Amino acid sequence: MTSNRNKQDPVGLPVVGAAAAPVANWSGPAPVVSFVSLGCSKNLVDSERMLGDLASSGATISADEDLADTVVVNTCGFLEASRTEAIEILRDLAARKRAGKLKRIVVAGCLVQRDDHGIQEAVPEVDALVGVNNRDDIVRAVWRMDRDESVDAFLGDYHAGQQWSDQGRLRLTPRHYAYMRISEGCNQKCTFCTIPSIRGPMHCKTPDELVAEGRELIADGTREILLLGQDTTSYGTDIHGDLTLASLLRQLDRDLDGLDWLRLMYVYPSIMTDEMIAAIAECDRLVKYIDIPLQHINDRMLKRMHRRVTRKQTEDLMQRLRDGIPDVAIRTTFIVGFPGETEGEFEELLDFVRDFGFDAAGAFRYSREPETPAGRMKEQLEAQVIEERYERFMLTQQEVCFAAAQRYVGRSFDVLVDEVSENCLVARHPGQAPEVDAVTLVADSDAEPGEIIRVQCVDTQDYDLVAIPE
Ligand code: SF4
Repeated sequence: MTSNRNKQDPVGLPVVGAAAAPVANWSGPAPVVSFVSLGCSKNLVDSERMLGDLASSGATISADEDLADTVVVNTCGFLEASRTEAIEILRDLAARKRAGKLKRIVVAGCLVQRDDHGIQEAVPEVDALVGVNNRDDIVRAVWRMDRDESVDAFLGDYHAGQQWSDQGRLRLTPRHYAYMRISEGCNQKCTFCTIPSIRGPMHCKTPDELVAEGRELIADGTREILLLGQDTTSYGTDIHGDLTLASLLRQLDRDLDGLDWLRLMYVYPSIMTDEMIAAIAECDRLVKYIDIPLQHINDRMLKRMHRRVTRKQTEDLMQRLRDGIPDVAIRTTFIVGFPGETEGEFEELLDFVRDFGFDAAGAFRYSREPETPAGRMKEQLEAQVIEERYERFMLTQQEVCFAAAQRYVGRSFDVLVDEVSENCLVARHPGQAPEVDAVTLVADSDAEPGEIIRVQCVDTQDYDLVAIPE
């Protein structure tokens, strides 16, 4: 849910040679497109899919904005801060366009879906808008350079049965790991969240579609797949009328030959069943790792957030996870400074974080989003109270996560190498997810990115582990 600008070189699936221009009467060179992907890993998958479509259309993809005549910005619209970030980037691009260095600015993604008028008002130089349900229109949006003065808008609501395959991507992650969405949209009603109004109700891919997509990623060199959704635990309710995540996990574990690690992200606490826990414990490819955003632990706060779970139920679930999945690494996130949160309720959260001993725990400062129920609550906290609580939370989680890292010293485990840095490898063990968690630094090894090697942990460096090859 954080917003980070991703401008890596695309590394993904082979692109079949330049197609005919997809626009009638197109003459002249194909567009040279640079792509900026903002926001979360789910948005990154949309970016990768749009890049795949653009490359297949014959557009040239360039990682260098200075070489591009067209820039696509795939925005995040989750929080006010993500809007600010997107508008700043668009204003920079608008200045380049006014200076004659750029021909076309295309804006896609969540912010378009949330506030297309606001974008046009803030940055009139924008040429085209592509909503989250119109991702397939990106080729038309990029290739249409003969427009009049009005903006080209490709916008629509999600409708049942809409196709949204993520196959054919040009990936932005390193080749050896990939994100795979099992569902999009969300049926929960957390009072602080704008996602259901932006992305619509939950809609899931079928197990067969996911096996096909997983196989494509493996053929492209992927060794680790991270399963994504706004709420992965609800998987299956729209297509099977029931919670079928456990059987999906077992099918993927069985059918994705050649895959080393499968990782489940974004578990929703109130519907995590024992069957799901057993599937994670029993499937060899599934890493023993749970990413479970808890948001709070105090009962009154959980109720105001409409999380449909109590402290007691949360504690029972955490115990079931630890009992059912030996050695499981647990990552969570909380919101600090939710409307009406008292000092006592915040202290209760800190005590819980300290007592439970998470492997990783992040926090978001509450962000007031006017169109949400929480945004309309009267008891909004002052910004400085939220900031002060955030800083206290971070100090507490630091103690907890440093202690969790210490528990690995002396142990041996496999790591997947992500990159080679100056004097060590940057790698991850199964309890460390890419981009959000700490890493394992491996000295004295000449392994390459994408290799899995056995190491022994000899020390820690704050959140990170230090290891040597075994
Ligand atoms: S589970 Fe809650 S926080 Fe997550 S996307 Fe759905 S409504 Fe938003």
